[in-house]
Parts: sequence; structure tokens; C-alpha cells
Amino acid sequence: MMVLTKKMIEIRNILARIGQSSTLTLPSIVVIGSQSSGKSSVLESIVGHEFLPKGSNMVTRRPIELTLINTPGSRLEYGEFPDLGLGKITDFSSIQRTLTELNQAVSEAQCVSDDPIRLSISSPNVPDLSLIDLPGYIQVVGQNQPLELKQKISELCDKYIQAPNVILAISAADVDLANSTALRASRRVDPRGERTIGVVTKMDLVDPTRGAAILNDKQYPLRLGYVGVVSRAPPTTALFKKGDSNLTSAITKNENAYFSSHPLEFGSGADVAVGTTTLRKKLMHVLEQTMSGSLQGTSDAIRQELEEATYEFKVQYNDRPLSAESYLAESLDAFKHSFKQFAEEFGRPQMHELLKNELDQRVLDLLAAKYWNKPIYDLSIPPPEPDSLADLPKADPDSLYWRRRLDASSSALTKLGVGRLATNVIASSIQSHVDGLIGQSTFVNHPFARQAITEAASSILNDRFYSTSDQVENCIKPFKFDIDMEEREWNAGRDHAQVVLKKELHACEGAFKDLETTVGGRRKLREVINFIDKARKGDVVVEGEGQTGAGGFSASLLAKGREAVFLRDRADIIKMRLLAVKSKQCANMKNKYHCPEVFLDAVATKLASTAVLFLNVELLSEFYYNFPRELDIRLGRHLSDDQVEKFAKEDPKIKKHLEVIKRKELLELVLEKMDSLRQLEGRERERAKRN
Ligand code: GDP
Repeated sequence: MMVLTKKMIEIRNILARIGQSSTLTLPSIVVIGSQSSGKSSVLESIVGHEFLPKGSNMVTRRPIELTLINTPGSRLEYGEFPDLGLGKITDFSSIQRTLTELNQAVSEAQCVSDDPIRLSISSPNVPDLSLIDLPGYIQVVGQNQPLELKQKISELCDKYIQAPNVILAISAADVDLANSTALRASRRVDPRGERTIGVVTKMDLVDPTRGAAILNDKQYPLRLGYVGVVSRAPPTTALFKKGDSNLTSAITKNENAYFSSHPLEFGSGADVAVGTTTLRKKLMHVLEQTMSGSLQGTSDAIRQELEEATYEFKVQYNDRPLSAESYLAESLDAFKHSFKQFAEEFGRPQMHELLKNELDQRVLDLLAAKYWNKPIYDLSIPPPEPDSLADLPKADPDSLYWRRRLDASSSALTKLGVGRLATNVIASSIQSHVDGLIGQSTFVNHPFARQAITEAASSILNDRFYSTSDQVENCIKPFKFDIDMEEREWNAGRDHAQVVLKKELHACEGAFKDLETTVGGRRKLREVINFIDKARKGDVVVEGEGQTGAGGFSASLLAKGREAVFLRDRADIIKMRLLAVKSKQCANMKNKYHCPEVFLDAVATKLASTAVLFLNVELLSEFYYNFPRELDIRLGRHLSDDQVEKFAKEDPKIKKHLEVIKRKELLELVLEKMDSLRQLEGRERERAKRN
């Protein structure tokens, strides 16, 4: 019935995947012994290879959880460190090096660590066993070793030699058993000697009669008995240490030669257990028995853990199934859905509005630069009375001056780089809409996905940017030479220019109010403004207008005052121009030379409409088509399982949810395996009874 240990080892590996939270353990054989008692030699004779760290200075500082896996039918022998991901290592000296490094990583100050190194060795020549090698007990603390080292090793060993583990207590034959630290330690936790196997090494170093007497020891009786071994390899093995040599056979040959040369003491009549082969068999048998004995208890413990996990799953997650892949797929679907909705709502009219707004600002800048920077009555001949500003200039339509001014303005507008401007406005709007969609999606908690989506959008937009802006620039080209305007367009421009001017007026008045608040009141601001106005007319002299300011006003107050004057003047001009735009004169397209606001607004509308036609084809439709595909590429099938898992676990809630499900699944799997093992074991027992 040697399958039990193998199956249990499999189960233990599954349990290890459940992680820290699980307190489930399965019995192992724990190997303890003083330094130089021959502990490593015994382990290596079982494995058949030299693989343990060697050296005079305390070499084992961490427990080594050694799993031996018998692989009949395979010739390959290899070790694996499941936590390191180094793959299969067939060179045992490389395993030895890795173990040495892992041990040396524990600092001198820390002495020993209870974080185990997991190592599994698969070979047709090893039995199925689960062993734990612990640091050797030390008798005397060395010169460079911390004082508490002895204590710490002892504590670490005590942790591992608890039930249900089997203790393999190694003592050397040339040391009195009464002085064996290993046996003394085992006695503390196993006083009746129920689960301790005594191994007496270096049998060749004592007189055979004395050796046999040690194995028959009655002072420390052990139910599982003592086994005597000679586990030092004969010197010749040094020749074939590496490669496919088997240390076990060399040792057993040597050992057999020794024991059979003393038949009286060690022969079949002597009733003592000797030899590495005997030890191996005993270990397998004892572990199998122990595993079998712990089957029921372990099953119960697993069942209980499973119940807890099931309960948590029900109460906290409403039994809602979830996997990293389904989570990603659902999140992606939801995101694409929200994008589709956005795509339905964002089209030509929305682009037109965005673009027109942008152009309106440029038109305002142009008006300010070309017209409003001078006293506006320059436009009129003769200048109007202050309260009849609405009476508009009778600017002669044939006047070259006003013609040139308007031509220059509209040319500045058509040549400002509409292609780039328009593409930029729309691309940044799309990008910020995408950011908004991310913000409302489950991806908001996933930095990785957020970046992937943002990049998906920007890569498409960047790809299309230059060709789109070129196309747009090309198609507005005719407006640079000639602007053909219809009555209807003029009228729409007139209406809209009023809207824009009103908005601007509002903004000026708002900013003016804000200034009043910042300087500390309306009166204060008016005083500064009066001062500046007078200074402008030359009524007062503004001297020393530096740090200290002039007229008793501080420099910063004067600066605010000048800002206020600017805003006031601009508001005045805009008010006047609003009246002009509303006036009858501006209703007539022929008077375009004194209604630049209307004319430029209508031009801006033409530019926006034309640009939008091309933006729609070149940028928007392309984006709508490619974006979902790009998302699939970046967040869909191209991600590895690990990446998907990492993604899902970025959200702590999802992480917990996934972990509960995984724990539950693994526990179910383990329980199923345990149940079938118990049935198998029951049948075996029945059969044994019958025979
Ligand atoms: P550890 O410190 O307990 O791991 O002990 P080692 O396995 O390193 O052995 C200590 C020393 O004892 C080494 O020099 C071994 O070669 C030697 N040794 C181990 N087993 C035997 C044995 O059965 N007979 C003899 N003569 N020497 C042994």
C-alpha cells in the first residue's frame, strides 16, 4: 500500500498552494542530530546524491522541506525548488550550491530562520518520502557565533518535532547515547518513544560488540527501534560523485561489507536492524503508517476549512462565481458598451460646437488685435457723440483702409492653422472623454488597465493626427482666397456674434467684480481707477511707480487697477459693438466692413463646418472603428494568464473574492482525493484481514 505516501504528498502540495491561511499539515519525518553526527550523510545515502551544504561553519540555517518522489520507469533524476521557479535541476552540485546560497542569505545576527526551503527530488531511485532537515544541534558556541545560537536552534527544532511528525534522531556510535542531544530532544516531546526512530551512525568506528549493544539499548527504548548505519561513502566514490552515479549503492556495498564481516553481532540471529536499505524501508513504512493514522484527522480538518470557505463565499459573495478572466471580460464588455453609448452621442454637431467655440475665441482675439485696440470711433467718420455710440460709422465701403483691415482679419483667421487646431481640439476631447469613461468604469481601480486604455486611444489618435490635419487644412484652402457668403450665413453670423459678445461681456464684468473683491471693495478699486484715468490724461504725474507705488497706492494695487481699467474699457467697447451688431446697418451684408464681428463669425462657422466633414471621416469614424479592436488587443487575448490574474487582483475586493473561490476549489479537490484514499485504505485493510 505504498501509494498512500505518494498521494498524501500530492495532497500536501495542493494544500501548500492554498497558502498561509491554511493551518493544515500532513506528517513528515523530521531529521535532528548534533553537528557532525552524520545527519547529512544519512540523508544523502537515502537520496543517492551529495546535495546538502557542506562546511565547518554551521551550514544549515533554514529548515529544508525535502520531498522525495519516486518516478519508476523514468531514468531522469532531478531536483526542483518550487518557490524559486528555476525549473528542473539535474546537476546535484548545482542544487547544493543553491542550498548553500539560500542558507547563507540568513544573516549571522538572525542565526537561524524558520522559513523553510522547499526542495523536491524526483528519481526512480528514491522512495516516496517527506523529510525535513533541520540545523544540527551545537554543543559549544563557536568563537564567531552569537551566544543565543544554541538556544535558537533548539527552539526551531522543537517547533518541528511536534506530533504528528515522526522524529528521526541521529546519534553517532562513538558518542554515548546518554549524551545524544537528538534523543534528549525527542524524549521531551515523545517521552514514551512512540514516534521516534533512532539512527546510530558511524557504526564502523566502534567495536562491533559495543555497536550491537547500542542498537539493543534498553535505557532509551523506542517502539520504532534503532537502525545502525555506516553512511560514509568509501573514498572511491569521489571518482564518480557527479553524473548518474548512485551514492546509495556505493554506500550500501561498503556498509554490507562491514556488517557481513561481523555476522555474530549483526547477522540475522543477532536481532538488530542495520543498514541504509533497512532504514529506507523503515522510513517508508513508518511514514505510510503515520499518514494513514492521520488520514481521518486531516480529512476532518480539511472539511472544516472547506465549510468556513463555503460560508464566507456565501455570506460575503452571495455564491457569485468569478474568475480573473471572466472579471476582465465583463469589465471590458461594460467599458466597450459605455464607449458605444458615447459614440452615439458624440458626432458632427458636437464636434462642430467644440470647434466653433475654439474659433470664437480666436475671432475675439483677432477683433481685439485689429479693431478694438484703438478707440473704436476710429471706425466712424466723424466720431460719434458718447451717447450715440450705436450710430455706426459711415465707413466708406470703397475705403481701402477698411477693406484691407477686414481682408487681413479674415486671412489671419483662415490661415491660423485650422487643420491642426481642429484636429487637436477633437483629439483632446476624445481623449478626455475616454478618460471620463475609465473613471466611471471598474477599470478605475486598475492602473494597468487604465494605462492600456489611455494608450490605446492615444495611439490611434496619434496615428491619424497628421493625415487628418493635412486633409482638413487642404479642404479649407479655398477660404483663404475667396469667401463667398450667403444672406442666410450672414444672418446666422449676426445672431451668433451677439451671443459671443454677450458671453465675453459677461466674462469681463465677472472678472471686474472679482477684482473688486480682491482689492477690498468697490470704493477702493474706483479710487485706483480714477487715479489711473487722471494719470492717463496727464492730470497727475505718476512718479516712482515702482515698489512703493504712486499716488499712495501700492504697486500691486496699481497693477490691479490697470487690469480693472482694461476690463472696463473692453466691456465698454463690447457693449458698443453689441449695439452696432444689433443695429440695422449690420443687418445688411453690404456693410460688412463696419461689422467685422458678424463677418468673422460667419467665416468661422464655414471653417468649422468644412473641417467637421473631414474630421468625421478621417478621425472620428476611424477611431470608433479601431478603438474597441485596440482594446481587445491590449486587454484581451494577448494577455497571459498571469497578467490577467495580476490585473484582477489589483482590486483588493476582487482579489479577496478570487482567493476565497480558489481556496474553496482546492479544498474540494483535496477532500475528494482524501475520501478516495480512505476508501482505498479501507479496502486494503479488509483484504489484509481476509488473508
Ligand atoms: P552532519 O554534520 O551531522 O551533517 O554530519 P556529516 O554527515 O557531515 O558527517 C560528519 C563527518 O562524519 C563527515 O566527515 C563524514 O564523512 C563522517 N561520517 C558520517 N557518517 C559516517 C560513518 O558512518 N562512518 C564514518 N567513519 N564516518 C562517517
